[in-house]
Amino acid sequence: MYYLGVDVGSVSTDIVLLDESMNVVDEIYLRTKGRPIKAVQEGFKILKDKYDDKEIKAVGTTGSGRAIASFLVGADAVKNEITAHAVASLDIDKEVRTILEIGGQDSKIIILKDGIVTDFAMNTVCAAGTGSFLDRQAERLEIPIEKFGEYALKSKMAVRIAGRCAVFAESDMIHKQQLGYEPCDIIKGLCEALVRNYLNNVAKGKDIQPKIFFQGGVAANIGMKAAFEEELGHEIFIPPHFNVMGAIGAAIIAKERLEKTNRKTNFKGFDIANSEFVSTSFECSGCPNRCEVVKILENGKVIGCFGDRCGKWSEKLLFIPRVV
Ligand code: SF4
Repeated sequence: MYYLGVDVGSVSTDIVLLDESMNVVDEIYLRTKGRPIKAVQEGFKILKDKYDDKEIKAVGTTGSGRAIASFLVGADAVKNEITAHAVASLDIDKEVRTILEIGGQDSKIIILKDGIVTDFAMNTVCAAGTGSFLDRQAERLEIPIEKFGEYALKSKMAVRIAGRCAVFAESDMIHKQQLGYEPCDIIKGLCEALVRNYLNNVAKGKDIQPKIFFQGGVAANIGMKAAFEEELGHEIFIPPHFNVMGAIGAAIIAKERLEKTNRKTNFKGFDIANSEFVSTSFECSGCPNRCEVVKILENGKVIGCFGDRCGKWSEKLLFIPRVV
């Protein structure tokens, strides 16, 4: 039997299958490309040929697209990314106190004490240091992103790069290239700048204590790991499935939820890969909040809605045909 976790983010959609012992038996990483429904369906198409619906004991969703995904798949649990990442890390090591997470387009820090999240922060505004920014710099330097970290480690003397924001970092890198510095020294300088940027922005004022986990796609970059270790003076641990930790957390939360409530899963099956989903939205005029309510239709039938702060629509599933 398996537990399914779906993490729909703005850059990637990650799907994992865990066995009864919470080991990852399958993982899928897809680009969301602004189409979260299509991304989940693509993932399910792949899984459909490998697993039977009956083998799925529970399913959980997380990420910025967790609400849409929950209606698509029939989720048993829907949780925010902070909780999902914390749960996944604690499942590996109960001693973890700090989680540094840097994904494709955002970054976060999670502070834990005795297995409970006590503080966190997210940065979705500045692109400096995120995966998409590093991808662009690798492309510009004509160095494969997989080799980026290795280059940084080869450097004997990092070049100081201004990392306050993505625009500064990029123009400063170009300037340093023009001055003739070696690529490995520039890359090491860039890793250091991005770590400084992260610690001065996302992690500002946070009580960073060991044990420290580093996860999200950028954790693949050993140059960033080394720069964090140098700056923080602590060893940094990278979990084995560092880039799908949110999805792992969602699967664990779904398992725990069903075990607690003794219910059967709502999982709709891998066949949703062939359904036709449409999402539409309307502005509710019920009060000055004027919520943008999103409703999801599967093969023409309304299967759920979200965005209503008071629960007026999601609870009743009554819709006035005022779709905008
Ligand atoms: S959904 Fe509820 S909170 Fe939002 S505008 Fe309508 S009545 Fe107000």
